[in-house]
Amino acid sequence: MNLESKLKEYFGYSDFRQGQKEVVESVVSGHDTLAVLPTGTGKSLCYQLAGYLLNGPVVIVSPLLSLMQDQVESIRFRGERRVAAYNSFLNKEEKQDFWRNIHHYRFLFFSPEMLSSDYVIAELSKLSISLLVVDEAHCISQWGYDFRPDYLQLGQVRSAIGDPRVLALTATATKEVQQDIKDKLIFKDNHQDLIVSVNRPNIIFSVEPVSNMKDKWEKVLSLVSKLPKPGIIYFSSKRLAEEICNWLQENGVSKVGYYHADIETEDRILIQQQFLSNQLDIICATSAFGMGVNKEDVRYVIHFQPPLQLESFVQEVGRAGRDGKESYSITLYSTFDDQFQQQLIDYELPTEEQVRFFFQQIENAVDPQVMVKEGFLLETHVRVLQYLNEQFRMSKLGLTEISLNINQWIQERKGLKLKKAADMTNWILTTDCRRNNIVKYFDEQEEVKQEVCCDRCGWSYTNIPIADNQLEEKENIAWQQQLAILLGQEEVNE
Ligand code: ADP
Repeated sequence: MNLESKLKEYFGYSDFRQGQKEVVESVVSGHDTLAVLPTGTGKSLCYQLAGYLLNGPVVIVSPLLSLMQDQVESIRFRGERRVAAYNSFLNKEEKQDFWRNIHHYRFLFFSPEMLSSDYVIAELSKLSISLLVVDEAHCISQWGYDFRPDYLQLGQVRSAIGDPRVLALTATATKEVQQDIKDKLIFKDNHQDLIVSVNRPNIIFSVEPVSNMKDKWEKVLSLVSKLPKPGIIYFSSKRLAEEICNWLQENGVSKVGYYHADIETEDRILIQQQFLSNQLDIICATSAFGMGVNKEDVRYVIHFQPPLQLESFVQEVGRAGRDGKESYSITLYSTFDDQFQQQLIDYELPTEEQVRFFFQQIENAVDPQVMVKEGFLLETHVRVLQYLNEQFRMSKLGLTEISLNINQWIQERKGLKLKKAADMTNWILTTDCRRNNIVKYFDEQEEVKQEVCCDRCGWSYTNIPIADNQLEEKENIAWQQQLAILLGQEEVNE
């Protein structure tokens, strides 16, 4: 089969990007396939083209509603109407319509949670599904163990819906994560792995040390006043994302917005759209922003705090420079960030006391949601505890043993997360080339060398010439700052 002519026929493109053809070939010839392709390579084309070449509908597991919606829209935009997403946005009638029309669809999107419903599985098993795609498959390892346990069940889902071949797609996966993905999806022995280097030559790395919180605020202002736009600033806290956004606005930075998981869905879609259409130049966001945001010309990603692992860092940085032009990753670092990371990790998983409380309440037939409402547990704690409870109960253990096992499991998870956070800090503190450190972390053998590379190789963001789109903004900032000084507002609250 001439895949190039199929590519032209369905998508109008003349050439495959690196890795795409091999992925399609592998899937079409019947292999379970793990594809690790850098952000912006065109991973969605892989499953869509394979879908056209196979008989039967394709089921795509997608982690976020917004991402699902984007994918559906972009497939429709191409003229393909046989696509639908089944998610909590649908009302009762729309759900009924979905199942009534199920035989007409070629591409069906689900969240892992939706695929845990017996009804959904029963309906899907009546179809001859040709391919199960797990998009952003690193979520299996990254989220599956903490707060989205349905990710860990996808292998069982696969078997229950007729054991179709599987395509797992991601931009970042260490060897360990790759193995985890294959285990959880129950890959067959003849599977194929197609791994393209994680290195993105057009992204230049730098870490800026700061001594206190006030410095961080000021550094952000001076960076966004200098760097070419558009850009994304990532925060570990929703509150900080909002506060810095407001502060930048007060200091004359226009076209800046914030985005995090507590914002209403409609507003989130609106902000994303405004960023895509250049009505907003800067987004202050938590990690909730970015997956599936297909904006080619993002020029920088600033990390206000380092993320908890290099995998997330590389994913987030990968949102810059999809157009191949020079782009910047700048991480602000202060030693108090390490403490903050530790607190975040502690907060994410339940304590022994919370585990004990959960089981007491379960014994007394209290609905776990009551524990969440009353503030004893986080929603994410309950989800993990319920999942673990089910798993251990299947092993017919007594309650005391179950909670002991769970506590042990939580300690192991915490240890692993601390180790990943330490790897992130080591990357920040390294005196060697940052690019090579990333490549090594992802277990790639070959060293990379390039002239314009990172601060450890002699680069400094102060060398970036002021972009045309900054000159006007600069005058604005200068004017606003002068006014703030006159009004005595230049102090920043920590
Ligand atoms: P990823 O998921 O890998 O980050 P996407 O699937 O969102 O990337 O694709 C990024 C962009 O690249 C899309 O606009 C897509 O249409 C485009 N694209 C994909 N494959 C090709 C190709 N072979 N030639 C040209 N453009 C492509």
